[in-house]
Amino acid sequence: MSAQQSERTAAERREALKEVYEQARGCMRCPQLAATRKTVVFGAGNADAELMFVGEAPGASEDEQGIPFVGRAGKLLDQLLQEIGLERSQVFIGNVLMCRPPGNRDPLPGEIENCQEYLFSKVALIEPSVICTLGNFSTKLLRGDPTGITRLHGQAEVITLGARAVRLYPIYHPAAALYTPRMLDTLREDFARLPELLALGPPPQPAHEELLPETVLPEPTEGPVAQTATPVGESPPEADQLGLF
Ligand code: URA
Repeated sequence: MSAQQSERTAAERREALKEVYEQARGCMRCPQLAATRKTVVFGAGNADAELMFVGEAPGASEDEQGIPFVGRAGKLLDQLLQEIGLERSQVFIGNVLMCRPPGNRDPLPGEIENCQEYLFSKVALIEPSVICTLGNFSTKLLRGDPTGITRLHGQAEVITLGARAVRLYPIYHPAAALYTPRMLDTLREDFARLPELLALGPPPQPAHEELLPETVLPEPTEGPVAQTATPVGESPPEADQLGLF
C-alpha cells in the first residue's frame, strides 16, 4: 500500500473487487455483447497494485478464458513487463470493455459508456498510482478528450478520476506493435520509463479527498436485463479463477 492510498487492506480491496465482479459477470447492459460473449472479462491481477493497465476489449482468447491479454498481444505485454522486472501478479490488467465485440470490431460509444462505471469502480478500489492506457480507446476515455495515442504516447500526466489523482501514462497498444517493428521499439522505450514513474509514488491528492464519496458500486441492472447472461448449465468463473489476488 502506498502512503496516500486509503486505509483499506489488500484483503479488503480484494473482497470489494469480488463484489463488483459478482455484479459484472451477469451484466446485460449491452444486449449484443451479452448475447455473443462467452465470458465477462472483468480484469485480473493484484487488487493492491500500484500499476494498472487498461486495454481496449477482450479478443477471442480472452473471451474463452475470462482473463485479459492472454492472446498474442498479451504475450508481448508479459514480455515487456518482464523486461522492466515486473510480472502480472504485481499489476492489475483491465479493459475499457469487459465483453468481446463480435468480430473484434471497435467498441461502440454506448458500450464504452455502459462499461465505464465498472472500470471506474476498479480504479477507485485498487487506487493505483499509475494507470497505463494501452492505445486509443482507454486513453481517450480516461482523459475525456479525443486526442489520439500517436500524439500522447510516452507522456505522463496527472489526472483526477473520481476522488483521486492518478498518474496517467498512455502508450501504444501491444497489438498495434505486433507487426510494426518501429512501433514496437517505441512501445519498448515508453515501457522502460514505467519504473521511474512508479518510483514517484502517487501524485498529491486533492485536498477535499475525505469529503468526496468513497467507491460507488455499479447499480445492479433491473428488470429483464437483470437476468444472468450465463446459459443454463454453465457457470461463470469464480473470481479466484480469474487471478484476482
Ligand atoms: N486486447 C485488448 O485490448 N485487451 C485484451 O484483453 C486483449 C487484447
